[in-house]
Amino acid sequence: MAASVKTPTLTIALAGNPNAGKTSLFNALTGLNQGVGNFPGKTVEKKTGICRRNGHTISVVDLPGTYSLTAFSLDERIARDHIISGEPDVVVCVADATNLERNLYLAVQIREIGVPLVLALNMADSARAQGIRIDTKWLGQLLGGIPVVATAANRGHGIDELLDAVVHSAENPTPPTFAIDYGTAIEAAIATIQTRLADEIFVDSFARWMALMLLESDQTVIETVREFDNGQAILAEVGAQIGRLETLFNDDLPIVSADHRYGFINGLVRQVQQKPVDRVALTDRIDDIVTHRYLGLPLFMLVMLLVFRLVIDVAAPFLNWVDAVITGPIASWTATILTAISAPAWLQSLVIEGIIAGVGGVLVFVPGLIVLYLFLAFLEDSGYLARAAFVMDRLMTVVGLHGKAMIPLILGFGCAVPAVYATRTMSNRRDRILTALLIPLMSCSARLPVYVVFGLAFFGRYAGTVIWIMYLVGIVIAVLAGLIFTRTILQPDENAAFVLELPPYRMPTGRSLLLHTWGNTKEFVHKAGTLILAVSVVLWLLLNLPLGVAEQEDSLFGQVSATVAPVFEPLGFGTWEATGSLITGFIAKELVVSTLSQIYIGAQDDLDIETTTSFAQDVLEIMVGFWEAAVDAARTLISIIPGIDLTGNNTEPEDVALSSALRDSFTPLSAVSFLVFVLLYVPCVATIAAVKQEFGKRWAVTAAVYQTALAWVCALLVYQGGLLLGYG
Ligand code: GDP
Ligand code: MG
Repeated sequence: MAASVKTPTLTIALAGNPNAGKTSLFNALTGLNQGVGNFPGKTVEKKTGICRRNGHTISVVDLPGTYSLTAFSLDERIARDHIISGEPDVVVCVADATNLERNLYLAVQIREIGVPLVLALNMADSARAQGIRIDTKWLGQLLGGIPVVATAANRGHGIDELLDAVVHSAENPTPPTFAIDYGTAIEAAIATIQTRLADEIFVDSFARWMALMLLESDQTVIETVREFDNGQAILAEVGAQIGRLETLFNDDLPIVSADHRYGFINGLVRQVQQKPVDRVALTDRIDDIVTHRYLGLPLFMLVMLLVFRLVIDVAAPFLNWVDAVITGPIASWTATILTAISAPAWLQSLVIEGIIAGVGGVLVFVPGLIVLYLFLAFLEDSGYLARAAFVMDRLMTVVGLHGKAMIPLILGFGCAVPAVYATRTMSNRRDRILTALLIPLMSCSARLPVYVVFGLAFFGRYAGTVIWIMYLVGIVIAVLAGLIFTRTILQPDENAAFVLELPPYRMPTGRSLLLHTWGNTKEFVHKAGTLILAVSVVLWLLLNLPLGVAEQEDSLFGQVSATVAPVFEPLGFGTWEATGSLITGFIAKELVVSTLSQIYIGAQDDLDIETTTSFAQDVLEIMVGFWEAAVDAARTLISIIPGIDLTGNNTEPEDVALSSALRDSFTPLSAVSFLVFVLLYVPCVATIAAVKQEFGKRWAVTAAVYQTALAWVCALLVYQGGLLLGYG
């Protein structure tokens, strides 16, 4: 360029999809001040021009039109190399507003690099004519605080505003970092690689982007990293991470990460754009229903009801089968073996009354958990759970939280501990704390055994509905608690905007469902084999001390429980047995059932264990029992279809061993009161530890205290209210 031209004070690059109007914008900006050259070393034409605004001289580069920055094609590589070269002070992404979703893919990729970005929503005139309305301000916020300007390049509309935005972001070059959440597994890999890159790359967001590109096997970035001092080691680590992740997802990583980006954009567009409903895709049509302002929430409730009905109805036959196997053959085999090796009486008591009653009492629920986790995995993998979060978003706003908090909360239905850690994806500490305080109110899987035992004992075939109501109560109380916290100790500080991801709908693969389910169930069984086992042994000891104690009630455990018991008198369950189970339940909520089972079943002195059947008979019985359970479950499943009933009329589910003992010491009303208490009272030790690690001692104590107080008050209301209404 001629030396007489004043040195430009600013350089910008125009990126955008083909036909988004880049050339039109370039012409509108630069008029006749245009020049043509080539991109360095390439034969691709490089158009440059100059424009002025408020004393600034701005040099404009028109990049080749691309749909993404994956660097597969020459054009994509040129565009990307230019963007990361540091040459442009600001990148302007030109997006076609009539086709927002497709055009945002490029914008999001540029945003991920972390360079200053201004989004020009071009074709604003056509968009308006088509009835499309886009909230530009909100769009900019959701993209992490960038300017978004509506333009109509061919008419010269919006050009001055665009230039003002460009100058503004050049003068304030670091917008808040922007990160799409790629899910736990990929995020962990990104974090690992990012740490390794820290020696060479000093800007965090750029290191994150490079880590992501490495995971996507991006050749350009791989070449760059190869030059680093520890390049080989980093690339070896990358290879290992890719291998691990691709086995996990059973898919190529670039596809998985692109899915996340599309999901992000889908959610984003749904939040900022209103569009007339002609010519929308099937996914959008389904989304219009399931994320509907009024239909969405009831639909979500219905889906959850269906899931818990299925968990109960389908799992019940298997539950009875496991129960029969444990109290039947397993107990009798163990007794036979113990007798054969002439084990002392105390050892027999420990194994049968302590371990089999305690651990077995919990293992009985494995079938229920398998079914629960299977459905949760199905909801998650199919993409529905993300919609549920979307639907709950509006409710969350009332509570002073954002939709993003919904993901950890839904995880809380599985286990509160990983859910508390999952709050890390939220940037605001106050939001994280509030979410962590509400997570334990979501009924975790450890509470399911308690619901099932009491549900079956007192409500028979309505057990499923009762359990569903318990989940609902947890949610409603969480809303109320959120309202109170938001108005007292956790007032919202500022309004941050989040995008809720809406991934495409998918038929989940059987493989991934099984992997999910297996992982979670394994955890539960592992806990039964370690923590629950240990506590069962200790509890057995405490139930048999001081030595020679005749009645359990006089044992150490019985006495301590009996001392505390009056506290629960007004709630309807002031017995030492119920109190004792609540004490151990603090360690892990499964232990409520395990303890009750040790007390009530272990105490039956005349444990008439049949040892007369042969081993072969037992095994045959186990197999036949399983087959019958499978047939029963299949019948129930098919009978869910309206108009078909294969279950016969005797659908009253059988008891598990514990149920009948419970009917002697609880009334239906005190049982409900007990369930409400178990739902709400102090989170288990592991959850409190997680809260302490994340937010400090003060919040851990707050969580424990507020929940216990809440539980006591709610159970009191249930019980005394019930008495007043005459349900005693
Ligand atoms: P490029 O491929 O990104 O360089 O896009 P062009 O600048 O060549 O524009 C593609 C087509 O869209 C041309 O026919 C332009 O006249 C038209 N166009 C560009 N900007 C606008 C706009 O803001 N509104 C409307 N209605 N048409 C536009
Ligand atoms: Mg062009």
